[in-house]
Amino acid sequence: GGAKVIVEPHRFPGVYIIRGKEDMIGTRSLAPGETVYQEKKVQVPEGDIKIEYRVWNPYRSKIAATILGGVEQLGIRPGCKVLYLGAASGTTVSHVADIVGLEGSVYAVEFSERSGRDLVNMAKKRINVVPIVDDARHPIRYRMLVPMVDVLFADVAQRDQARILALNAQHYLKNGGRFLISIKANCIDSTVEPSVVFEREIETLKELGFVPEEMITLEPYEVDHAAVSGVYRP
Ligand code: SAM
Repeated sequence: GGAKVIVEPHRFPGVYIIRGKEDMIGTRSLAPGETVYQEKKVQVPEGDIKIEYRVWNPYRSKIAATILGGVEQLGIRPGCKVLYLGAASGTTVSHVADIVGLEGSVYAVEFSERSGRDLVNMAKKRINVVPIVDDARHPIRYRMLVPMVDVLFADVAQRDQARILALNAQHYLKNGGRFLISIKANCIDSTVEPSVVFEREIETLKELGFVPEEMITLEPYEVDHAAVSGVYRP
């Protein structure tokens, strides 16, 4: 039962706006009938079939928070290849997989064995996800699994995350490819203001060959977090 919902395309292809009392964003599920983290689903009839969308909770996903924060360029779109560092149990990865669709793929790296198990299970339902339970500080180890990609995303919450991003970009990110990195200020330096941490991190990214274009703070979804997006070796 339930009220009729209206789903409209978002400005970013592969992302949808689910209209309701409060608008939400969502992705079209590649695995209808399944949930990954007990997220809400909505079904919309289209001809004889029903299309299933999964609500994308910005409190649970920094990419969703970045989109709702108004980022201008996302890079992640249908058909593209994404290398995703810090996949955890794969909740956000599952939405990225929905966006890139079956013509694209997501290479998802996570070094915790525990989270890695959930990630591997999620990937069983999404054949465009390649789970890699390994350390993103050693990108050479997964060279047999990862091709050159269009987009590199990092959410590892480590002090040296800019360096980790650069190591992976050197091996796998196309020249002119896009990057997106989430920055948790107190993971990098808890002794200075978050805004100072963000500015320093942007300088570090520039030294490493990235061209940062936008910074989005992730309030109200995450406190003292920002996301920086831009281009690699344009
Ligand atoms: N991106 C996830 C999401 O949206 O659901 C949340 C990621 S969580 C903030 C950070 C993750 O990075 C943790 O699961 C942690 O185990 C992982 N991580 C940290 N350092 C890593 C490394 N060197 N290689 C691979 N994964 C790492």
